[in-house]
Amino acid sequence: MAAASPSAVAGGRFVVVGGGVAGVTCAERLATEFPSDNILLITVSPVIKAILNFRQVSRTLEEFEVEEQASSVLEGHYPNIKVIQSGVKQLKSEDHKIITEAGEEYAYEKLCLCAGAKPKLITEGNPFILGIRDTDSAAEFQKQLAKARRIIIVGNGGIALELVYEIEGCEVIWAIKDKAIGNTFFDAGAAEFLIPKLSVEKREPQIACKRTKYTTAESSKQQRTAASPGKIGSALGPDWHEGLHLKGAKELSHKVYIENLCEIKKIYLQEEFLLSQKVSLAFPKAQHDTRNAEPDQELWPVYVELTNGKMYGCDFIVSATGVVPNVQPFLDNNNFAVAEDGGLKVDKYMRTSLPDIYAAGDICTASWEPSPVWQQMRLWTQARQMGWYAAKCMAADALGEPTDMDFSFELFAHVTKFFNYKVVLLGKYNAQGLGVNHELMLRCTKGQEYVKVVMQNGRMMGAVLIGETDLEETFENLILNQMDLSRYGEDLLDPNIDIEDYFD
Ligand code: FAD
Repeated sequence: MAAASPSAVAGGRFVVVGGGVAGVTCAERLATEFPSDNILLITVSPVIKAILNFRQVSRTLEEFEVEEQASSVLEGHYPNIKVIQSGVKQLKSEDHKIITEAGEEYAYEKLCLCAGAKPKLITEGNPFILGIRDTDSAAEFQKQLAKARRIIIVGNGGIALELVYEIEGCEVIWAIKDKAIGNTFFDAGAAEFLIPKLSVEKREPQIACKRTKYTTAESSKQQRTAASPGKIGSALGPDWHEGLHLKGAKELSHKVYIENLCEIKKIYLQEEFLLSQKVSLAFPKAQHDTRNAEPDQELWPVYVELTNGKMYGCDFIVSATGVVPNVQPFLDNNNFAVAEDGGLKVDKYMRTSLPDIYAAGDICTASWEPSPVWQQMRLWTQARQMGWYAAKCMAADALGEPTDMDFSFELFAHVTKFFNYKVVLLGKYNAQGLGVNHELMLRCTKGQEYVKVVMQNGRMMGAVLIGETDLEETFENLILNQMDLSRYGEDLLDPNIDIEDYFD
């Protein structure tokens, strides 16, 4: 059948692509700034992500809830936002037009691309490899897990960390390429602090933690059911697994074995494995006890050979090895500057390299000279901040007004929860890019708290706070004001000194 030719050109002064946190925030702000203009939000997913109960907890730490909602709710709140549910198939940047999968053509004066990212799968097209990105892929994972006795998780970022802690009733082999777990967020010391939680027999009651929270509105469930399968939805976020029963087919609680310093060498389907005459290993009895690596008697649907020479069978593999920005639909005939990580490069006004096209959230790569204590990470908070700031820049440009860099980009600040601990990350929390000329100060009470401070030339550059430390606001200020702390030395982390009073 011939492709439908584009129908009559509709459009708006401002068009936003993507119904995730970045796109919705951008559209909302534009709608408020230009109440008499129509703002078009074009998104492939039938539901959008709305931010509720936003609260600035401190200068840079923020707290909000994210709710998956039917797009009609957004249109109800902002009568000048029109949501078009269709994927963008093509961007004609020279003509200032986009064409959707439905064959419609939309003209724009200013466009913001917020199409998110996709999971980076270790191999495409293998039915035994799952990636988790949106509500549909999380539901598919839960369904497969219910029948599983053993899975292999590959990757060492936030999703892998959450999964290994949450999954019960299934053996988990966790393959990481680094020496320590959670390399994106922690150093080896923090990882050691967390590891005992993996062998806790009984699940503890969940701690309440002030951070972003994720829910689904009733109305969105109906819309999602009617959605076309295979389309990329918005990314999930904190607590995405709450309400999903992450339980396998076995009667056991946590059973995790970590294979570090290795990657996947080859994946074998059962038949290939049998032909290869290789030997697979049973689930090891104890961490680091290589004597226990016995041959496996069971037959599995799929097998994974690791670069350390070991082979394990499993029911399926979870690929949690990060994301790739979803730029493909926009690249054809458009000469975007693309960063090494695959994102659309944006300058300090969130402008891509093409005229009148902005980008925000997971799809973009911040390519300005950043503050010494900020870095981009593909997180909800940054998606919101970027969407908000992109709209501000688009508005300022349309009105011929100047814009200042948003304060959110002064200091990296993230609150999350791992292994049922509250985790706060500030600034260069892992000494990223600081070279050798830095010092670490540590305070650790086993099972309770882990505090790490990164110092350079007497100034605090970053911190990792695990547990209820109550230090975040003070440290945030110390990092922001770059006070010379040399004379305080180790007192800085002395639990007997009330540091808040000290710097009041
Ligand atoms: P997305 O939310 O991915 O939205 C992209 C939108 O674009 C979607 O609506 C999609 O349907 C639409 N789209 C895609 N292609 C097209 C197209 N061609 N045409 C039109 N529309 C299109 N972050 C945290 O801060 N804390 C966490 O604990 C956390 N946990 C996470 C857990 C999981 C399982 C995942 C997957 C992510 C997690 N993240 C977390 C990351 C966070 O969810 C993302 O950084 C954030 O949602 C990115 O927002 P976005 O708006 O840029 O993209």
